[in-house]
Amino acid sequence: MKQLIRNIKIALVVLLVLTIGLGTGLVYQQYQSQTELLAVAGENKASLRTRYAQAGSIVAKDGVVLAQSEDGQRQYAEDIYVQLGTSQLVGDYTHHMSNTIETQYQGEILGNKRGITEQLLLDLAGRGLQGDDVHLTIQGDLSSLAYQELEPYDAGALVLMNYKTGEILASVSTPATEMSNIIRYEDIPDTALFNRALNSAYQPASTFKVFTSAAWLTSPNFQPDFTLECSGEPLYPGGARDKGHGLMDLNEAFAASCNVYFGELANKMGEEHFSEFLNNLGLDKIDSLDRLDVRPARYDISAGKNDAGLLSWAGAGQPVGNLIAEETPLHLALVASAVAGHGDYPEPYVVEKIVNPLQRETRVHKADKASMKRMFAPELAIRLEQLMIHGVESSESVQYNAAIPGVKVAGKSGTLERENVESYQKTGLWMGFLAEPNYPFAVAVVVENVETSSETAVVAGRNMLQYAMDYGIQ
Ligand SMILES: [Zn+2]
Repeated sequence: MKQLIRNIKIALVVLLVLTIGLGTGLVYQQYQSQTELLAVAGENKASLRTRYAQAGSIVAKDGVVLAQSEDGQRQYAEDIYVQLGTSQLVGDYTHHMSNTIETQYQGEILGNKRGITEQLLLDLAGRGLQGDDVHLTIQGDLSSLAYQELEPYDAGALVLMNYKTGEILASVSTPATEMSNIIRYEDIPDTALFNRALNSAYQPASTFKVFTSAAWLTSPNFQPDFTLECSGEPLYPGGARDKGHGLMDLNEAFAASCNVYFGELANKMGEEHFSEFLNNLGLDKIDSLDRLDVRPARYDISAGKNDAGLLSWAGAGQPVGNLIAEETPLHLALVASAVAGHGDYPEPYVVEKIVNPLQRETRVHKADKASMKRMFAPELAIRLEQLMIHGVESSESVQYNAAIPGVKVAGKSGTLERENVESYQKTGLWMGFLAEPNYPFAVAVVVENVETSSETAVVAGRNMLQYAMDYGIQ
């Protein structure tokens, strides 16, 4: 009898402890989820800090902690270059930036998006108030190096990805600023909160010649041996011109980035075929990266329909007049990926898995089962790859700066010259990839307000491909 009473007492105590434990977690997390929106609407700093006191971490693929809550404080990457190189992507718990991991994964990070069973299990283990960790495909080391590549320039962006799996290894935008400035909302350089890698509208300039080539190669009017004597003068009133390249075929025109040649290709194939080709690329439908918004690409060259001069500029990739061509560095990296993948590119992603406080993993993507999309027919992509490899191998090309000894590098550069502004107003672009099965890396770089040609972006891109090889696949 005594034994029984003791057992009953123990059972009651256990029940009581459980009830209190369960209650706290459930009630607290429910409260959190009900008031989640307040955080976005400008909750005061003290209450935000409390909310994030036990929030989960944001972790890079190489184990570098990008955000964590320690001693009740939200902290960001310890290394300043990693912090600067991931600031617009990771985001701030104060939500001064909205298109970020901190904001879009807030429910997981605070732990208030769980099912009731999972929450009860966590409460039982005494971890009910902790948030989940978000593991990214981003590498801390590569983000730091990418930031340093862009640092010399006023502004720019860089996307480095694995073209077999779709993992984004680095996505960097400059200017950037320390997280402490963002949280205080003070001393923020102009546009430092804007994520150029995902949300800018860059004009592709001569990187567009990959599309002009592809459209020409699939045109009913295609002539394999078409050559042209480039004097530099436009072939149509107000049309595409350049410094003059002499006798050009497709290989040499691509390497030299001859505007006159590519302008003539646009006219030979015609606006209708060229437009149809651009519309079928599918890049206008890429408007997200996991839960992050991406500005979709836009191509509209219909203004060149009855204007041969304008159409020739479309072929050269300089969207003058009412021609429209704009895309983000992410789109540019996907074009490089599609050529590298012999026409197919993987769905890009940045969140690999969510891990709860009991180490239960929810995989967001499976790297071994990338879902592939087709941009080019396989034989067309192989021809484009040849052109891009030849471009880098040609000592006549600024892209020669992208060569890495012993490795096949493919690429296309571009320089955008803005009209009616000072000479010191060019944008340099480069997309490239390693045509090496063991190093499936593609990169896109844009640097703004540069003085000379695209050598700047070319060199930054080459360096990133080299770093990606050095650091390997994690
Ligand atoms: Zn030319």
